[in-house]
Amino acid sequence: MQKNIIDNLELIKKAVEVEIKHCYIDILGKKCKFSQFIMGEVKGFIKEEPKNSKWEYLYSTFEMYAVSDLPTRMKAVKHLVKCLQNPHSEEEKSKKKFDPLLKNPEDVDVMYVKGVGPKVGAILNKLGIFTADDLLHYYPRKHLDYATRTPVKDLIVGQEVTIFGTIKHTKVFASKNRSNLTIISIDISDGTGTVSASWFYGKSNKFMVERYKAQYPQGKNVILSGTVKIDSFSGKLTIDKPQIEILSGDFGEKDSLHVGRIVPVYSLTENLNVKTLRRAIHNCIETYSNAITDFQPDYIKEKLSLMDKINAIRQIHFPDSEDLLEESRRRLVFDELFLVQLRLAMMRKQYSKNSDGLVLNVKNGGLVDKFVQSLPFELTGAQKSSFNEILTDLGNSEPMQRLLQGDVGSGKTVVACMALLAAVENGYQGAIMAPTEILAEQHYKNFTSWLTPLGLSVGLFVGKHGVKIRREMNQNLKNGQINIAVGTHALIQEGVEFCNLGLVVIDEQHRFGVRQRSELKNKGNNPEMLTMTATPIPRTLALTVHGDLDLTTIDELPPGRMPVKTALIGARDRSKAYSLIKKEIEKGHQAYIVFPLIEESETLSAKAATKEAEKLQKTVFSDLNVGLVHGKLSPVEKDRVMEEFRSGKYHILVSTTVIEVGVDVPNATVMMIENSERFGLSQLHQLRGRVGRCNEQAYCVLVADANSYETKERLSVMTQTNNGFIIAEKDLEIRGPGEFMGTKQSGLPDLILADIVRDADILEIARETAFDFVKNQNIEKYPDLNKKISQRIEEGQELIGAG
Ligand code: ADP
Ligand code: MG
Repeated sequence: MQKNIIDNLELIKKAVEVEIKHCYIDILGKKCKFSQFIMGEVKGFIKEEPKNSKWEYLYSTFEMYAVSDLPTRMKAVKHLVKCLQNPHSEEEKSKKKFDPLLKNPEDVDVMYVKGVGPKVGAILNKLGIFTADDLLHYYPRKHLDYATRTPVKDLIVGQEVTIFGTIKHTKVFASKNRSNLTIISIDISDGTGTVSASWFYGKSNKFMVERYKAQYPQGKNVILSGTVKIDSFSGKLTIDKPQIEILSGDFGEKDSLHVGRIVPVYSLTENLNVKTLRRAIHNCIETYSNAITDFQPDYIKEKLSLMDKINAIRQIHFPDSEDLLEESRRRLVFDELFLVQLRLAMMRKQYSKNSDGLVLNVKNGGLVDKFVQSLPFELTGAQKSSFNEILTDLGNSEPMQRLLQGDVGSGKTVVACMALLAAVENGYQGAIMAPTEILAEQHYKNFTSWLTPLGLSVGLFVGKHGVKIRREMNQNLKNGQINIAVGTHALIQEGVEFCNLGLVVIDEQHRFGVRQRSELKNKGNNPEMLTMTATPIPRTLALTVHGDLDLTTIDELPPGRMPVKTALIGARDRSKAYSLIKKEIEKGHQAYIVFPLIEESETLSAKAATKEAEKLQKTVFSDLNVGLVHGKLSPVEKDRVMEEFRSGKYHILVSTTVIEVGVDVPNATVMMIENSERFGLSQLHQLRGRVGRCNEQAYCVLVADANSYETKERLSVMTQTNNGFIIAEKDLEIRGPGEFMGTKQSGLPDLILADIVRDADILEIARETAFDFVKNQNIEKYPDLNKKISQRIEEGQELIGAG
C-alpha cells in the first residue's frame, strides 16, 4: 500500500469508529460530514493507485451514503473497512502469496485463489468478496437440479422451471417499438417440444449483433431457467427473463461442476461469468478445506447433530443430494442465528451483571390494588397475566427488561400504570416517556384522572413548557413531590433529576434510539424498565430484533369492542365511500381520509394532500369542514390541527400518514384510505386503529387502484381480521423482515441464508442454545467463537438493544 494511504489510515479508522458509535448518522465532523470526508480520502487513493478499481467503486458507494438508509450505510462502512484491511500493493501482495503461514482463508486476498487473478479479483471486490473466506461464504442464490428438469411438453404458465435443450434457432433484431433495444430470441427443443426465450440488450450495431448471435450457436446444449409466460404477440409459450447456461458438451458429460446433478447459481455482476465463479469457489474449497475455522463449540454440534463446517460449505455450493443441501443449509443458518442470539444473550447478561436491582413487592390493599378497584371495568385476562409477568420481574433483584406488545386499545396503558404504581407503592418514583407531545398529554390526562383520587401527584414534562414551569417541575421531581413523571424527550434533558427513580416505561419504544432509552434509565440507579409497542411484531422477528428483552403480549381486547368493518373497493366506487362518510357525519361522528406517501417525499405528499383537501372541501364536502394535517407542518401546527379535530372543529381530517399511533379521537368512526395498495398491511392496521375507539360501529374503506390478483388477495386480509398479530405475520411473510421493519433503524442483523419466517424453528433452537451457552459456559474457553463475536461487535452489528 502506498505511503500516503497508510498515513491516512489511522484518521479514517477513527472517523469510522465515531460514525459507528453514533449509529451511522453521517456524523458532522469539524469540517464536513463523515461521507464527504471518506470521499475526499478515497479520491486521494484513486490518484495514488489509479489502476486499482476498488477505490473507484468505494467512492461510488460513499457518493450515495448521505441519502442511504441504515442497512445500506452499515454495508458501505463494512465495505470500507474491508477495503482498508485488504490492500492491493505489490509488496503486500507478494507477502500474502508466499508466506506459507498465511493459510487462514480470512487472510488470503481473493485474487490468489486459483482461477481468480487480479482482473476477476477486482470484479469480485464489487460483490463484497475480498478474501478467500468471503468467497467460501458467497452462497448460491439457488440451485438448478438436473433431476427435476421439466420437459417442454409439460410447461405450465406461471411456473418457474428449468429446462434442458438444444438451440434450434437464434434471432437478433432491433425492437420495433424502441429502437434503442436489441432483442435476442432463441428457440430450444428438448425432444418433447420447442419453446422460445428472449431477452434484451441495449442499442447495438451490426458487428455487435453478429457477436451476440455467435454466443448462442445452433446445435449447442443449454440449461435454461425462468418463468413460463405466454408471448403477447405470438401467443406461444416463452421463458421470461431466462437464466441461460451453455454446456460445453452433452448433458451426460461428467463435468461435476457445471452439469452435476445439482448446480449452484450465484448472483453475478457485469463481466463475471457463472462458470468462472463456480470454478473459483470450487478451487477455494479444495485449497482451504483444512484451514476453515469452525467456531461452533463441539458440544453444540453433537447435541444438535449439526453438519461439519467444512462439509456444510462444500455441500451448500456443490451438494451431492437435496438432503445434504438441506442439512448444510440448516447448519449454516444455525450459525447465523446463533451468533445473533449469542450477542443478545451477552447484552442481556451485561444488564443483570451490573445490578443490585430493586426488589419491588406489591401488597394486598396497596396502591396497585386500590387503583384496580377504582377502575370502572374489570381487567381482561391478558392484562392480568401480563401484569403477573411484570410482578415476577419486579420481585427479583435482576432489573426488569420487558417488552409489552399489544394492539392499539388492548389496554397497555392501564398495565403500565399498575407497574408504575408498584414502584410508588415501594417508595420510588416512576416515569413514562412517549414519542410525541400529543401522546404524552394523553397519558398525563389519564394518569391524573386515575391517580389524583389516590392522593398521588403526576407531572408533565414537555418541550413547550416555559422556563418558569420547567424550573418548578424539576424542583418537585427532585424533592420527590412528583410521584410519576409523564413526558416526551424533555424528560431526558439535563436538569431533570429524580429523587429516586424506580421504574421507567417507554411507550412506542421503537420510536426512540438506544441512547435515549438508556438516558432515561440512567436518571435512576438501575431502575426497572418496561417498554411498550402497539405495532405487533411476530414472535420470530421480535426475538431477533428485541431478543435482549423478555416479551409479553396482550392478545385480547377489552370486551364489547366491535371490530372495525372493513371494505375493499375500486377507485370507481369512491362515491360509495363518500356517502358512508356523510352518513356517519350526520350521526354526529367524524372521519379520516388518508393519502399515502408519494415516492417517499414528504414535500410532494404534503402538496398532493393539500390539493385533495381543497378539492374535497370545494366539491363533495362543500357543506362540511375539512381539516388537513401532513408531515410538512411543524410539530406545534400538527398538534394544533389534531386538537381542533378532537374538539370537533372539523368533520373530516385529510392526512398523509402522520396521524400518530395512539392518538385518541373516539368520535371518529370512519376512515377512508386512498391508494391502499401502497401500504404494508401492518401500516394499514395501525391506521385503522385510529377508528373504533368508542362503542359505536366503525368503518374502514380501503380504496385500491390496482386490479392485480395479488394486491387484492393481500388487501383482503384486512377485511377478514382485526387481529394485529395475524396481520403482522401475513405482512412479514409477504414483504420479508427488511421491509416489514422499515428501513429506519430497523435493527435487523445481517442475515444471509437465514429467513426468520421459514427458519422459525431453527431460530428458537439457536436462541435457547445461545442463552444456555451464556449461562453455563465461559466464552474465553472458545477462542474461535470469541473472536467471531468480537468481530461482530467491532463491525457494529445489532445496534438495537434495550441499552
Ligand atoms: P393501549 O394503550 O393498549 O392502546 P389503552 O390502555 O389506552 O390501550 O386502553 C384503551 C381504552 O380501553 C381506554 O379508554 C381504557 O380505559 C380502556 N380499557 C382498558 N382496559 C380495559 C378493560 N379491561 N375493560 C374495558 N376497557 C378497558
Ligand atoms: Mg397506548
